[in-house]
Amino acid sequence: MTFDLVIRNAECATATDVWHSDIGISQGRIEAIGRGLAGARREIDAEGRLVLPGGIDPHCHIDQLTSQGLRTADDFASGTISAAFGGTTTILSFAVQPRGESLRRAVDEYHRAAEGKAVSDYSFHMIVTDPTPQVLGQELPALIRDGHTSIKVYMTYDALRLDDRQALDVLDLARREGAVVMVHAESHDLIGWMTGRLLEQGHTEPKFHALARPAITEREATHRAITMAELVGQPIYVVHVSGEGSMRQIAEAQAQGLRIFAETCPQYLLLTARDLDRPGFEGAKYCCTPPPRDQDSQRALWRGLATGIFQAVSSDHSAFRFGDTKGKLAFGSSAPFNRIPQGLPGLETRLPLLFSEGVGSNRLTLNQFVALTATEPAKIFGLYPRKGTIAVGSDADLVIWDRDREVEIRAEDLHDAMDYTPYEGRMGRTWSCHAAMLYVCATNSWFHLAAGNS
Ligand code: MN
Repeated sequence: MTFDLVIRNAECATATDVWHSDIGISQGRIEAIGRGLAGARREIDAEGRLVLPGGIDPHCHIDQLTSQGLRTADDFASGTISAAFGGTTTILSFAVQPRGESLRRAVDEYHRAAEGKAVSDYSFHMIVTDPTPQVLGQELPALIRDGHTSIKVYMTYDALRLDDRQALDVLDLARREGAVVMVHAESHDLIGWMTGRLLEQGHTEPKFHALARPAITEREATHRAITMAELVGQPIYVVHVSGEGSMRQIAEAQAQGLRIFAETCPQYLLLTARDLDRPGFEGAKYCCTPPPRDQDSQRALWRGLATGIFQAVSSDHSAFRFGDTKGKLAFGSSAPFNRIPQGLPGLETRLPLLFSEGVGSNRLTLNQFVALTATEPAKIFGLYPRKGTIAVGSDADLVIWDRDREVEIRAEDLHDAMDYTPYEGRMGRTWSCHAAMLYVCATNSWFHLAAGNS
């Protein structure tokens, strides 16, 4: 047998195993796993390196129209290039239905935005904002049958949210048609009331964003989302869990046998609300929803990752340039916290941060790292075993890591369209990144990646 490529002497890891072997690849797929594979047209010696499944980022916002009428900073070129440089070879972004419009048309438009631009694999979750009889009765069932099998619903944001009855309708439809439902769980009315109070008192700075959305508002909505899922008998996937209270709701539901899946994100593991309390408008760089919490929450979330409450770590990359009137400055540098475009960049830093802080700090095993960043997202969203593992027949989306190399994260080295990273400086001072991705094979394209100097 002749292979297009053989990766030699690799230390490989999946969600369950670690072993040493060669990997033979042809036409973008893994053809053989074993020692001393012969007949390679091209070889890469991975001696001393780690070979892992390419990352799957199950939650990022690329070239997306926001509820404030803005667009997120990255298009499918910069977004997927940045993801690849960070070891992520598949991204799941969003196609959002503008209220009053066709979901089908929205899905087609987002596909057009990606075609010819993306350098990695991608797919879309469908954000349903207006579950009309037409959407529920015709568009969604047809889209699900076409392979668009995940739906996202929001419990907050005026332009996106569904009320509970609408959410129940979507859950019921998903159960009948066989789709996954992701839920953004924050209490719309509690947050609205808090926001109104704070603004009345003249509390407008970025730091009040965190006060307007305390962890109990996430806990309440998470409980309600789980209750709706239980009522309908449909699993849900709770996105971007930031607080311990919410995590406990999920753990309790899981202990009762309910199929509740959940993710958290690096910003909730590594940042706190104090990052929003920086001079001037600087705190806007750290404004995302839900907001980063505190160190107790961070510890709880790490525990939740290690004990299997969470199935995934996503970036929730929702990037707005800081010094840009189409970004964080869209409503001026004295915009009240509730008008600041919400979100952080994180596609490229997700895996290095989690590897460094998780595996490198002995909070996660290598197998858990692979499960959280690739295998479980692939299973939940229907990509497994083609994606998310190293197996004969799987796509050869592989990342070669150099554990001995330390890389300081700096915005100027990253490949997204951003002018900042929330991890600038902090990285150099308090930790360094113990892994650099050398090569990524994503869908027949090869990138030579030398993080830190390219
Ligand atoms: Mn998001």
